[in-house]
Order: sequence, then structure tokens, then C-alpha cells
Amino acid sequence: MHGRRVHVIGAGLAGLAAAMRLAKGGAHVRLYEAAQNAGGRCRSYLDVELGCRVDNGNHLLVSGNDAAMAYVAESEAAATFIVREMAEFPFVDLRSGERWSVRPTDHRFPWWVLLADRRVAGSRAWDYLQALKLRGARIGETVKDVLPPGSVLYDRLWRPLTVAALNTVPEEASARLLWRLFSETFGRGGAGLHALLPREGLSESLVDPALRLLAARGAEASFGHRLRGLTIASGAVASLDFGAKGQVDVAADEAVLLAVNAPVAADLVPDLIAPTEFRGIVNAHYRIEPGNASPHSFLGVVGGTAEWVFVKPGHVSVTISAADHLIDRTAEDLAQVIWRDVQRALDLGATPMPHWRIVKEKRATFAATPAQLRRRPGSVTSHHNLFLAGDWTDTGWPSTIEGAIRSGFAAAQAIVA
Ligand SMILES: Cc1cc2nc3c(=O)[nH]c(=O)nc-3n(C[C@H](O)[C@H](O)[C@H](O)COP(=O)(O)OP(=O)(O)OC[C@H]3O[C@@H](n4cnc5c(N)ncnc54)[C@H](O)[C@@H]3O)c2cc1C
Repeated sequence: MHGRRVHVIGAGLAGLAAAMRLAKGGAHVRLYEAAQNAGGRCRSYLDVELGCRVDNGNHLLVSGNDAAMAYVAESEAAATFIVREMAEFPFVDLRSGERWSVRPTDHRFPWWVLLADRRVAGSRAWDYLQALKLRGARIGETVKDVLPPGSVLYDRLWRPLTVAALNTVPEEASARLLWRLFSETFGRGGAGLHALLPREGLSESLVDPALRLLAARGAEASFGHRLRGLTIASGAVASLDFGAKGQVDVAADEAVLLAVNAPVAADLVPDLIAPTEFRGIVNAHYRIEPGNASPHSFLGVVGGTAEWVFVKPGHVSVTISAADHLIDRTAEDLAQVIWRDVQRALDLGATPMPHWRIVKEKRATFAATPAQLRRRPGSVTSHHNLFLAGDWTDTGWPSTIEGAIRSGFAAAQAIVA
């Protein structure tokens, strides 16, 4: 590996994770990114209209996200996070006004479900055995096929968990994928469910430290470099075309890692089978610092339009996943509707709506349906020096930070092998 040149296309978390591992192994990494900044879908930026720095979506990491934790450790970014001392997921039901916190204990055995004040309000201990049905789910089954709706736990845990983690409604989300996620998080006990919240923002925690480390290891990064095409000769990539930015020849012993999003990869690589369906996420940012909530906290909301309310330094940020039904509504209308939920969720009374911003991501993640999962390729392609990474490749995980980083690590390993 030592000194081998690897061209990494795309500086999202998948590309950064791969680049970090490759550079650590002694490779000469060249990173090309179409945008002027790294981070892709997981980054922070200054919203000039709102007058503060915001994250492109509220990303929740937990201590059991093994690849993400390794990435944070390797990029020496641990100090940029606030790590919760215990697993705690506070919720409010806007229909009834009930509030509760799901508080798994750190033990692997989930005895916390026996304690009413640690489980979902209105649920019974034995309801949680339903989770085991996911384990036996058949490949084509959805969450709703396996966990029939109508119960308190479905409304207050299974549905919010599926929508938040898979960005797909339970009626069409893969039950097997939810089981994978559930077994690797809740299944490992509360020790793996301590939330990690960036002190400043996603870029300061997950992007800038990785870029610093890459620079220290001699990697070269070129921004504003959009790959327009690649030439394949004799079963290998021979050159990369960056349009007006020029062409880069790829020698026979060099490798190319495409860490771009699925539609871009499908355009660039002939005959690539990749996910073709995506789901949207709507974010609402409000320029307010509620005095009654910590500036590093979050709250799950059921029975309203808002789903997760994050209180951050200088603003409150709301995420609604699997939000395709909201995408066509006007920003003004969404800001009003979501603000009413925030008022109630955070006990803000009749506080007038502050300065706001709605951000709609139509293609936030691929749709986690059984059919789309079958379209996820591995990191190795039929072209001997071309590799793939990205949250949409076959990581066994949903489209998440953890999935993206896993894909980057897997691709780096495949390149070394
Ligand atoms: C609003 C929102 C909320 C989210 N919430 C969560 C959450 O709570 N928890 C969680 O774990 N995950 C969440 N996610 C998902 C998470 O952000 C992604 O899974 C992850 O960031 C994907 O990383 P990636 O590197 O695979 O892809 P990307 O981040 O898309 O990176 C691809 C990179 O390639 C670049 N690129 C594209 N085309 C080219 C080209 N032709 N040439 C050069 N460069 C190119 C892009 O500019 C980009 O930087 C959320 C996503 C969104 C959008």
C-alpha cells in the first residue's frame, strides 16, 4: 500500500473515512470534491438569512455506532462532542400532552423494560418482546407487516424509530434493516445508546478534524472539482475528467474510489445497479434560545408534524423524516405549523414565531424498502481499480453517518486487499 496513489472522489463522510484509513496505511491520497466544502450531507454552514451557523440536518450519533466512534477517535475529534452520561430519549405526545423518557440501563439485558418510568408511557413490559418478530422477518417484509400498528408501542416507539433511522415509513421500510439497526443499538443495551451531540456543529466535529488529519498525512484535497466522466480501458479506470479543471491520468497501479451519491455514481459507471428511490427530509430552524432548555438537548415528538426538536446554541432546529408528503407545501406554511408544535413541545406558550428557515432535502437518503436494498452494490466493482463507497452501498446499515463511515472503511480495506 505504501506510496500507492488513490484518487478519492467525494468528500462526504464515506470519502473522508476511506481517505483517512488509506492515508494512515501509507497511501498517497488525492481527494476531489465537487463542492467548495467537505462533508456532503453532513456539514454545517452559515445561513446568512438566519444569521447563524446551522447543521444541514440534525444528526444523532450514539455511543454504539462502532465505525463512527472509531472515526471520531482516529480523527482526534472526541473532545468536540458532548457525550451523554446515560441513555435517555425524552418524548412528548402532543395529542395527550404526556411526557416520558425512554431510559435503557447500560446492561445488555433489557431489564429496564420492567420499570414503568424507564419505558414508553402507556406500554407494558411484554410489548417489547414484539421486537423479536423483526429478527425472523422475511426479506420482502416491511416493518408494518411484522409489527402490526394499533398499539401504544407502535405509535410511540416503532414508528418514530423507523422513520428517524430509516427515513422511510413503516408501511414500506424493510423489517430486516430495522432489526439490524435495533439489534446493534438497543440490542446491546443502554451502554451503546449514549447520545453524542456536537459542541459546535457537524463540520467542527465530523469534517474539519478529518481534513486536518488528512493534511497532516500529506493527502491533497481539491475542492470545486466535479468528476464529469471516467475513461475505462482494459477493465480499469484510465483517466478522470474534471471538465474545465482538467483531466487526471490514472496509472495501472493506482486506485479510484467513487464516494459520491448513488445517482451520480450510476451516471458515471456504466451498468452500475444502485438505489433509484429516495426519501425527503424537512428541517426547520428557528432563531431562538429557549431559556427553559439546555442548548445541547433534543426531544422526540409524536402526534404532531414535528418529529425531533433539537435545542442548539443560538437556535432550535426541527427534523421531519420521510417527509415527501410535506415537500410541496410552502415554506411559510411549514414554518407556522412546525412552530406551533415547537411552542407546545418546549412549553413556550404563545411566543411569537422567531426568524425562521425551512430547508427541504428531496433526496436526503435512499428509500429503505426491501426492493431498494437489493440494489445496493458492494465496494468492489468489475473494473479492477475502481471501488465504491457511500451510505447507499451494501453496508447492511441504513443511510446514516454510521453507514457512510462503514462504507468508507470497507472500501479502504478492499483497496488495500
Ligand atoms: C437532512 C438530513 C438529515 C439526516 N439526519 C441523519 C441523522 O440524524 N443520523 C444519521 O446518521 N444520518 C443522517 N442523515 C444521513 C447522513 O447525512 C448521510 O447518510 C451521510 O452524510 C452520507 O455520507 P456519504 O459520504 O455517503 O454521502 P454524501 O454526504 O452525499 O457525500 C457525497 C459527496 O460527493 C460529492 N460529489 C457528488 N458528485 C460529485 C462529483 N461528480 N465529483 C466530485 N464530488 C462529487 C458531494 O458534493 C458530496 O460531498 C441525514 C441526511 C440529511 C440530508
